[in-house]
Amino acid sequence: MRKLVENRLVLASHNKGKLVEIAELLKPFGKSVVSAGDLGFAEPAETEDSFEGNARIKAHFAAKSSGLPALSDDSGLQVFALDNAPGVYSADWAETPDGRDFNLAMNKVWTQLEKSQSSAPYKARFICVLCIAWPNGHDEIFHGTVNGSIVWPMRGNSGFGYDPIFKPVGKTQTFGEIDPAEKHAISHRADAFAKLTAACLCD
Ligand code: IMP
Repeated sequence: MRKLVENRLVLASHNKGKLVEIAELLKPFGKSVVSAGDLGFAEPAETEDSFEGNARIKAHFAAKSSGLPALSDDSGLQVFALDNAPGVYSADWAETPDGRDFNLAMNKVWTQLEKSQSSAPYKARFICVLCIAWPNGHDEIFHGTVNGSIVWPMRGNSGFGYDPIFKPVGKTQTFGEIDPAEKHAISHRADAFAKLTAACLCD
């Protein structure tokens, strides 16, 4: 397992919600971070059908373009009664001609759940795959998960994406209602990040 000894790091994401959460998780390690968007890099097409594949595309693209190690996050929501959809297509479900609309995406989840005739609790999970890639082509991959269920109607304005309809196991509030610090303690991103930290950021 390769250690991340470099002090500068590119965050290979254009998603503001993820950038805020990852920057927060990286804070204690004193790394100087810059985002791929701030460096003017385009967003590479996510052409793989797995979280790992797409995480690799984003991290390698940013590492090669910048000459710095790059950290990417590919993540999404899997709803069990929908055969794990939207999964790797979580961002695509929000696409509109005017940009991403997650109210639309959450409505799609609920409409499809109603059609599926399954019953509550509508079990679901968020998945996060983090990839650190170095300019020489080496990479390391880490997986994280948080289990929960889909609730309707949407609740809360915190977080991003599908947070208002996801209630983690053991909590009464959705990720949209919960204090951000509490989300950071239990989220799929925090789970993957803890593994990355133990393997690459600690002595
Ligand atoms: P991608 O990894 O850029 O393909 O996008 C993943 C999509 O999954 C995001 O745009 C969000 O819609 C969703 N997603 C990932 N993590 C979270 C989260 O922590 N909360 C809510 N939605 C998330």
